[in-house]
Amino acid sequence: MIKRISKFVKQFLAPHLFWLGISILTGIVAAAASGMGVPFIVKFVFPVVFHQSGQPEPELMALIPSLRDVPASSLLLMACASLPLIFVIRGLALWLNSVVVNILGLRILEGLRIAVFHHVQQLPLAFLEGRRKGDIVSRIVADSQNVQEVLSHISNDLVKQPITCVCALFAFIYLLISVGRWEIFLVILFIALAAWPIITFGKRISQKARSAQDDLGELNTVVQQNLETQREVRAYALEERQIADFDSVSEGYCRNTVKLVKYQRAIIPIMESVTALALSFLLVCGSICGMQLSDFMALAAALFFTFDSMKRAGQAFNRLNEAQGSMTRLAEILDEPNTIDDPVNPLSFPKQVKGDITFRNVTFAYDTGKPVLRNINVHIPAGQIVGLVGPSGAGKTTFASLLPRFYDATEGSVLVDGVDVRDVTRHDLREQLSIVGQQALLFAGTIRENIELGRKGASGEDIAAAADSARVNSFLATQPKGMDTMLGQGGAGLSGGQRQRVAIARAFVKDAPILILDEATASLDAESEREIQEELDSLAEGRTTLIVAHRFSTLRNAHRILVFDHGCIVGDGPHDVLYASCPLYKELYDRQGAVVTAEHER
Ligand code: ADP
Repeated sequence: MIKRISKFVKQFLAPHLFWLGISILTGIVAAAASGMGVPFIVKFVFPVVFHQSGQPEPELMALIPSLRDVPASSLLLMACASLPLIFVIRGLALWLNSVVVNILGLRILEGLRIAVFHHVQQLPLAFLEGRRKGDIVSRIVADSQNVQEVLSHISNDLVKQPITCVCALFAFIYLLISVGRWEIFLVILFIALAAWPIITFGKRISQKARSAQDDLGELNTVVQQNLETQREVRAYALEERQIADFDSVSEGYCRNTVKLVKYQRAIIPIMESVTALALSFLLVCGSICGMQLSDFMALAAALFFTFDSMKRAGQAFNRLNEAQGSMTRLAEILDEPNTIDDPVNPLSFPKQVKGDITFRNVTFAYDTGKPVLRNINVHIPAGQIVGLVGPSGAGKTTFASLLPRFYDATEGSVLVDGVDVRDVTRHDLREQLSIVGQQALLFAGTIRENIELGRKGASGEDIAAAADSARVNSFLATQPKGMDTMLGQGGAGLSGGQRQRVAIARAFVKDAPILILDEATASLDAESEREIQEELDSLAEGRTTLIVAHRFSTLRNAHRILVFDHGCIVGDGPHDVLYASCPLYKELYDRQGAVVTAEHER
């Protein structure tokens, strides 16, 4: 944890060193004003105020001889003003300290939150696929919020209390030396006793806080999944099961939070009892030694401030322990290595590549370690339209996913125009590709904005032309504001076919030389598929195109077909050749042909 915290400090605190310095300075002023100011006023100023003629001269006169010349009335005024003056200084320093620490906390956290989100954008897809999204949301939003809340709660105490404790302890030892009663020094033992609950409970608090935040992440996941799958939940009457899942996670969260509160709240009563014990010990020693009241009061004040600041520092320390769970959860994302990173010295592509693709000795395995592509060797010349067919799970989508570097080949290499895709930046590589997937995922925004995502800054004419080519216009008339109609999250408000048209228009606007159609019409009905197919054909024209085919009807324009089986290419050629020479292809084709015929007959 120390290593992690120092990493955080280095990364996020470095730009704010000036304000950190201010917060420490104001903390020292506030701490000195309370830890030393009050005991020293009691010890040195009060005797001046209550001095009676005939009594020995107050110590302050001996320390500052020039005070002997000050008239008694002015001396009294100065003495009385010293207490409010100390508290005004303390108050100002405290206010400034608290504001600066809060700002610092917010800034650091903002940096942390942005860094985590930024890192998530860079991480390989495999990272996201292996995790529950609700948990990641919880880490970025709830955990950073938790750290922020803790910081703002303890901002008053974080710097000030430890320094107050040191100052008060210093004042106590100084007063002890001036009184000269060494047995009182035993009071220090109580301080050690008071430190015990802070240290012991700290570890448990950190563990429970971590468990509570994990539960919160799980809770988020359950809610998110539930909301995303409401149709299925209702269709399969899964409500009871979902409620039971939610209840169980929610209960775990409550249990851990209660334990957390139990440990947190135990510290104050223990510390206050120890303080009372130490003060009565001081009282006993004072009475046995025949100590003067002003000495006793000064020592008691110093002792009180020592324990009080220790208690508050302990509370702050434990809140920090509470935040440690959240910090660790955030750090875990930041520590996640980016295995699909840009090269140190990237090669550059021309503005538009030709689109020549080569898979050379490519073997690929997901995290499970089992190869799903085995020693693939294939060359696709620029402009060729290639269909990928094969049984479900044969490796077609994985094959197409290696091109945009969603994953990197475990062995071998993927080349575009003779350049290894790992030798250019991911941005440059993905600029050369358009992908139209099974589900057209649209963002919340207007239809125009969704098309423009294909190429930032695309002109109005380009967008209109792309919309025309994808025949988005065919349904614009039914939209309340045409191209400026706002869509909900995921494109809510449009039918599947309409969404797919917007996605195709986006690819038209991008005008990339390589196109991947990953079962682009699989989720559409036969009617919509037939309509969309024409737009897809015109989109593919002149581009190197990989079509992950679910239906053979989508391959009518393919120059060539690759047949996948168990991660290997078992057939490669045009339809006629494959139908005659590749038994698997013939079987798949005939089986679908039969289905198509049966549908027609019905
Ligand atoms: P296809 O597109 O031919 O249906 P895929 O390329 O999707 O096949 O999958 C090939 C194999 O890889 C399958 O056995 C599938 O279970 C496995 N697979 C696909 N995606 C992942 C993943 N993200 N993690 C682990 N295994 C995966």
